[in-house]
Amino acid sequence: MKKIRVRFAPSPTGYMHVGNFRTALYTYLFAKKNKGDFILRIEDTDQKRYVKDALEKLIQVLDWAGFGYSEGVYLENNNVIQKGEFGPYIQSERLDIYKKYAHELVENGHAYHCFCTPERLEEMRAEQIARKQAPKYDQACLKLSEEEVMEKMKSGTPYVIRQKIQAEGATEYTDLIRGKIRIENEVLDDQVLLKSDGYPTYNFANVIDDHLMEISHVIRGEEYISSTPKFIQLYQNFGWNVPAFAHLPLLLNPDKSKLSKRQGDVAVEDYIKKGYLKESVANFVALLGWNPGEGSTQEIFSMEELIEKFDLAHVHKAGAVFDLKKLDWINAQYIKKLSIDELYKKSLEFWKQKDFFNAASDDKKTEEYLKKVLEVEQDRLKNLSEVGESNKFFFQNISYDKELLRWKDMNDGDLKSSLEKSRKILGEISNWTKEKLEQKLLEAAADKRGELLWPLRVALTGEQRSPSPSDVAWVLGKKESLKRIEQALEKF
Ligand code: GLU
Repeated sequence: MKKIRVRFAPSPTGYMHVGNFRTALYTYLFAKKNKGDFILRIEDTDQKRYVKDALEKLIQVLDWAGFGYSEGVYLENNNVIQKGEFGPYIQSERLDIYKKYAHELVENGHAYHCFCTPERLEEMRAEQIARKQAPKYDQACLKLSEEEVMEKMKSGTPYVIRQKIQAEGATEYTDLIRGKIRIENEVLDDQVLLKSDGYPTYNFANVIDDHLMEISHVIRGEEYISSTPKFIQLYQNFGWNVPAFAHLPLLLNPDKSKLSKRQGDVAVEDYIKKGYLKESVANFVALLGWNPGEGSTQEIFSMEELIEKFDLAHVHKAGAVFDLKKLDWINAQYIKKLSIDELYKKSLEFWKQKDFFNAASDDKKTEEYLKKVLEVEQDRLKNLSEVGESNKFFFQNISYDKELLRWKDMNDGDLKSSLEKSRKILGEISNWTKEKLEQKLLEAAADKRGELLWPLRVALTGEQRSPSPSDVAWVLGKKESLKRIEQALEKF
């Protein structure tokens, strides 16, 4: 059997859309599972969409995710380099190749020069639309004689090269996800292959490159389903083998519209910035359009499991809803599984972005202190940028209204003695562990928890909601806890 070779072929347009990220992931999983080659090719032939540094950013996201590829474009010490025997892997460096093949097609009668001006094409389109016809090139330039073509070329009239579509019959292919697809050739347009600036269109370059790079399976988004027959005709015109195709389903907003910025972030970079772990993002994205089949309800998959279980046959045809709540849930599962050491290391960059943290005293920025905060917060974190956010009282002085201390209708005298009781209990504990604190406080509260723990919670945090008072006291330490109780007592 021919070696499996697949490629991820993004256009560097500024950021990595989650849909593209999913294509990269599925392509990577497919390559790994089948021990094939995974190639990164850069499709930068649309110069209007050129964005500085986009290429670098793309590669950084792939590196972050750990989608290792074996060929193509890499970043080494901030320089873009290429590795592999089928290069160059950046399309703008392959212009001569496209030109050569485009002219070969013209020679063989499968393509032709078109000199139509943008104005004429616009007029033609408008008329077709007015007649309720699907816009399609009317082949005006196909009627030019060889002499006319020569003349226009000699006089320097700008031209494009168009594919001469086989107009009769239908083109069929078997999509690995969707089964048989058949499109009547009469609906196919004589598409532009080479633009007047000498750059190829995607429609041409993808065919040339997939062939020359010996790609066995083309895995890409469903927006290319209807163009694929045109690509297949090109393969046939050249007498080349046609690769297998798998067109992935759309990503949808919860209201089933096409995934857009409206519902939230669509750039993977935004999720990285918010502190979603790469394992969770890959896990979440893997499930957008794929399931392991056989009634499985498994939702958490390690990368190894994904590689083992992934299969194009279990990719759905229907659009997949991008549900942020699920990403949060998955990420929370992964955060819970981290050791405190790992959580601390991963959280460091996020602490440093927070004003309340930067303004805190040095004793609140130590590794030991942060690890305690994290231990208390770990089970509730949905992403790492949330660290400390709901518990700022660990880092700053607190202020609150005396009334907040009051549990139900306790009078001032009872409140005061409740706080004094807490002061006494905490003061007597020498072995300052979470367990000890919890045990002593619960013991003392007996069946009157609110009376003891509510005023204590407020005294320690200044808040109505917080982790348990024993956990808070544990993090704050004995001295600080007693100091805060003292400050509460001063209100009486
Ligand atoms: N450059 C195309 C895109 O980003 C790639 C499509 C393909 O994989 O063929 O959509």
